[in-house]
Amino acid sequence: MTDADPALLNSQREVLLTGNETDEDRVLNLSLRPQTLEEFIGQAELVENLKVAIEAAKQRSEPLEHLLFSGPQGLGKTTMAYIIAHEMGTKITATSGPAIERAGDLIGILTNLAEGDILFIDEIHRLSKVVEEFLYPAMEQFQIDFIIDKGPYAKTIKFNLKRFTLIGATTRSGLLSSPLRARFGLAYHLNFYDPSDLIRILERSARLLGISIEPEGSLEIARRARGTPRVANRLLRRVRDYAQVKGDGRVTPATAQTALNNQGIDPMGLDEVDRRVLKVILEQYNGGPVGLEALAATLNEEADTLVDVVEPYLLKTGFLRRTPRGREATRAASDHLGMSPKRLI
Ligand code: ADP
Repeated sequence: MTDADPALLNSQREVLLTGNETDEDRVLNLSLRPQTLEEFIGQAELVENLKVAIEAAKQRSEPLEHLLFSGPQGLGKTTMAYIIAHEMGTKITATSGPAIERAGDLIGILTNLAEGDILFIDEIHRLSKVVEEFLYPAMEQFQIDFIIDKGPYAKTIKFNLKRFTLIGATTRSGLLSSPLRARFGLAYHLNFYDPSDLIRILERSARLLGISIEPEGSLEIARRARGTPRVANRLLRRVRDYAQVKGDGRVTPATAQTALNNQGIDPMGLDEVDRRVLKVILEQYNGGPVGLEALAATLNEEADTLVDVVEPYLLKTGFLRRTPRGREATRAASDHLGMSPKRLI
């Protein structure tokens, strides 16, 4: 495998993995998004717990408690927020941490919420301190304080909100402040999906998109989908394109394999960037440990991208280890890459 231009690799990765969705993604994600808890595949424990929480809230005719979802990108946190709104029969307003620059941005949103409505804040760990503190009384007492006028005439006005449910989503629960975390009544972590769940997701998506796929074809895609439904759906589309142009349109294991190999996605689901990360640790840092910032600088990648996008799956596969002294590549990683580093762990 040759080292390619990092900028090019970044752009490839955007398409495959990150939350920066293309227009094609947006349209397809909407059409592929399950609408009800019944349709949601996998995460059985989470689904069961939510069913109980939703049923109980409905019986008491109360809004659901504030709820926090954590876990890597593309596992269904946003999907779940929309499903909850559907199941509760309420409206959902969606925004994200970086989109709310000032507390003032929240006033309009919060005052427009009706009883039981859902406010979904994606990347909630990226809210500024000021905005976060503004949210506390809104979450706790359904009240906000805002200041009108300036200087000696400044007055604080209390405004009562309708009882709403805040659903927060985060890829980095460790970055959430404890006062904010404490204000969520329910908190769930989404885990990577098993291949058997990904196969069911792929079969459902293939049915919705009118793609004919052999069972072994879905297995091949599921194995390389990094335990992530969003990635599975993206790979399905790339394989479909290949099957349409090079074959008779049917997704067989052979077309899936060739199409994904051509995209640089190996049988474990690693792509160029994953392999570069491991290679750099093994070759340039002798297997590690190497600090995150040094690693990011060597790779010419953002540290946040490494932590949010690259590392979760490498940690899950056991190719990477996080230690207090930095990141280490494991023997499994050097075996997978067919490399023999000077020192192995
Ligand atoms: P997140 O908010 O965690 O980044 P999303 O909710 O945006 O992830 O999920 C990405 C896409 O993956 C969705 O549009 C949906 O098509 C698909 N998806 C996620 N979870 C599931 C699931 N359990 N079953 C079927 N499709 C799913």
